[in-house]
Amino acid sequence: MRFRRTITLTALAALASVTAPPLPAQAHPREPATSPTAVGFGGAVTTVDPTATAVGLGVLRRGGNAVDAAVAAAATLGVTEPFSAGIGGGGFFVYYDARTRTVKTLDGREAAPASMRADSFVNPATGAAYAFAEARVSGLSAGVPGTLLTWDEALRRWGSRPLSMLLGPAVDVADRGFVVDETFRSQVSENAAAFGQFGSTSALYLPGGRPPAVGSVLRNRDLADTYQLIARRGVDAFYRGPVARDIVATVQRPPVAATPVGAWPHPIRPGGMTLADLAGYRVGDPAPTRSSYRGLEIYGMSTPSSGGVAVGEALNILEGFDLSRMTPTQALHHYLEASALAFADRNRYVADGTAPSVLRELLSDRFAAERACRIDPTVALPKPVAPGVPDGSYGGCAAASAGSVEQPEHGTTNLTVADRWGNVVEYTLTIEQTGGNAMVVPGRGFLLNNELTDFNFTPTQGDAVDPNLPAPGKRPRSSMSPTIVLSHGRPLLAVGTPGGATIITTVLQILVNRIDLGMTLPEALAAPRASQRNSATPQAEPALLAGPAAPGLDALKHRFVSTAEIGSATGLEFLPGGRVLAAAEPVRRGGGAAAVVDAGR
Ligand code: GLU
Repeated sequence: MRFRRTITLTALAALASVTAPPLPAQAHPREPATSPTAVGFGGAVTTVDPTATAVGLGVLRRGGNAVDAAVAAAATLGVTEPFSAGIGGGGFFVYYDARTRTVKTLDGREAAPASMRADSFVNPATGAAYAFAEARVSGLSAGVPGTLLTWDEALRRWGSRPLSMLLGPAVDVADRGFVVDETFRSQVSENAAAFGQFGSTSALYLPGGRPPAVGSVLRNRDLADTYQLIARRGVDAFYRGPVARDIVATVQRPPVAATPVGAWPHPIRPGGMTLADLAGYRVGDPAPTRSSYRGLEIYGMSTPSSGGVAVGEALNILEGFDLSRMTPTQALHHYLEASALAFADRNRYVADGTAPSVLRELLSDRFAAERACRIDPTVALPKPVAPGVPDGSYGGCAAASAGSVEQPEHGTTNLTVADRWGNVVEYTLTIEQTGGNAMVVPGRGFLLNNELTDFNFTPTQGDAVDPNLPAPGKRPRSSMSPTIVLSHGRPLLAVGTPGGATIITTVLQILVNRIDLGMTLPEALAAPRASQRNSATPQAEPALLAGPAAPGLDALKHRFVSTAEIGSATGLEFLPGGRVLAAAEPVRRGGGAAAVVDAGR
């Protein structure tokens, strides 16, 4: 279902009255002061970026609600975190409504164009799947963006301010500029070869042919203009009007520079997105996934994300074990094994279009009990483990078979907001890889996503059907796992993170850390991470590999590959007495920014 809204002139007038985010008035903007943890009253915002957090907080302070603040913060992330978030991408929005005490979700996932085929990522000349980089930096990988309609839809249903007004602070940041930090510079640097192929991208992000210097001010006037056009003319300007035409032109005729900056080893292929694909895009509103864990209710994102089902299944498996009484090594061992089992099932069964009855079985306690019986406390199962059979008839343990391989993915961000009325937003948005498909839409200031590379390029499930092959209009399977945990019907925790398929394991590990292992929420976020996605080579951060549990995990035959960082989470915990604890990463991706409306009392 899709609702469109025309922004009224009254709303447009309101744009002028929006105060700027708390950037100093001088020519050279500075980042607002930042802290990864905050405790207080009256609402809270936590994102990866201090400017976005300040914008969200400003909206709450001026009487906006959590949805208003989340949209304003997300629009700002589109400016300051353009390689992870933006109107060229998609995401999943999970909302707790305090008045009705219900959790609702919006599916703003990018959709495949009508021209997509099961073999669209297979090179017709060779019969082999394209290399990932070749598929990514192409028009083929760009899905129809869902982010802007997600904002519009969330505001229409639950917001209290018009989109035109909430875009105001982001317009200001884009227009005045923001200070480039080390994370931003290194994200450009890692993508310099891809960005350098497109004149529009290099003009914006490779000034003088180089990544912008740390401390320099980056302005994005094209994006400011695009946001203002949307504020004036509504989302139709994007989905049917002039921006739609520019998106289609970019996909169908990638804007390759006459003189690229650096070399790119692959041909840059066009895609088939059309104006009809954009005009036909709809935001979905699936029922959230729901499961219980140690007396708490866990709400997550259903298909086309696999996040809610996989996190829920893994928790159901773990519920059969008392992690709180285990050694740290055994608790991690069980977490890793439950995650591998849930991933085997996710890979086999979960994607856009999975029947609700299958999702229900995957989240059933009886299925989890059968899966749990596979965990051996004395040794890690050889990976990949085979999927189970969620057919409603349980009792035995399944036999092993082959699993699938995941691509590395990084271009996502997460934000968490609560307001004084008790509404909560957990929102993960993405353009897939850091830098999406590397094409800034000329004259419009935003990058296109490469979300369609989240489809499997060729079948991964042996003789069984692969649920995640491309098809017209289909949405690629996501791992995004915005999660809200209720206790007796009231919010207790909200958490989410980027990180591709590691999103599922990071959210799971944070929940286990907080609920079972006695950590505070900031500790649960900061703790070293490991990610087992049904692979013979699970990942772990260096701090985990140097930590006290490592020798025991090695003895249990977990063979980790060291990975510098897994995820970049944000979260909230609702404390007794109406206080809220906001947490962001202290270190990963340069640290995030948490803030509360009222730190006093
Ligand atoms: N495309 C990924 C997904 O939807 C997210 C990318 C990331 O977080 O790195 O699962």
